[in-house]
Amino acid sequence: MFTEQSKFVWMNGKIVEYDQATVHVTARTYLGVFEGIKAYPCGGILKSNITLFRLKEHLRRLYNSAKVYRLNMKYSERELTDATIETIRANEYRTCTYVQPRVWPAGLATSVAIVATPVKPILGTDEFERPHKYRVVSWRRIPPDALPPDAKCFANYANSQLGTIEAREAGCDGPIFLDQRGLVSESSGSCIMMVKGGRLITPPLTASILESITRDTLLTLAGELDLETEVRDVTRVEMYGMDEVFVCGTYMEVTPVTEIDGITIGDGKVGTMTRRLANYYADVVVAKIEKHIDWLTPVYEED
Ligand code: PMP
Repeated sequence: MFTEQSKFVWMNGKIVEYDQATVHVTARTYLGVFEGIKAYPCGGILKSNITLFRLKEHLRRLYNSAKVYRLNMKYSERELTDATIETIRANEYRTCTYVQPRVWPAGLATSVAIVATPVKPILGTDEFERPHKYRVVSWRRIPPDALPPDAKCFANYANSQLGTIEAREAGCDGPIFLDQRGLVSESSGSCIMMVKGGRLITPPLTASILESITRDTLLTLAGELDLETEVRDVTRVEMYGMDEVFVCGTYMEVTPVTEIDGITIGDGKVGTMTRRLANYYADVVVAKIEKHIDWLTPVYEED
């Protein structure tokens, strides 16, 4: 996710040089929790070069994840909001930026770091247009009674990584996990959405998924585009027969899936509904849609 090294990292209350942002080798970092947030260039309604998308909801989820693992958050949500903004400003990023607040146990207390890096958006680029092959992998998504997928702990990503390795070794772009019941769950770092007969369908929280903020955003936007939505279980075979499939997440935005297990989805091209939702999402994140301005937090208010 971090494509280049930043100059500065926010760590335990202050901005430090990238190389100074270290923890001890004995730290149980895998028991930490984290978030992935994006800031986009601003399309004009707000006076800021870039704005963070749904920062409040991401920080809320971070605190909920921390609760599950009994991590004592020593900073308030207000302080972490300011710290996230401060991290981007310290690095002087003014293009699309990916930010990760990370919290992990440090004795009885916690350590907190915020790392940011510029990234290429997917929407509106060749990455969105190109064919994407996915594969249902043999690894099942972690069950909620063993390692809860809805608490964003680093440990969960060992499971994601096994699926990604299997998919990549089979020449695919990414994995699709089934849950313990054998029903469609999610991908690695992204949720799955499907379109059939003009309806937007996505598996429920009980299908071992992370409560994705992008999924929530798209369900809301779909309603505004007068698309019917269905949150329900989907079987593997039903998924093969969908008109359109895409994965969604902060990092993946809306990424069309054109082939699963060697089976062409729909006509094998980016679907009409996928494109409509992606275009609307792209407008929302760059502050072109007045009614969703509340989802955006300006980074450089003084500009
Ligand atoms: N599932 C998993 C396992 C993830 O790591 C992510 C990325 N946070 C998502 C789904 C998508 O969530 P969001 O839309 O909140 O980024």
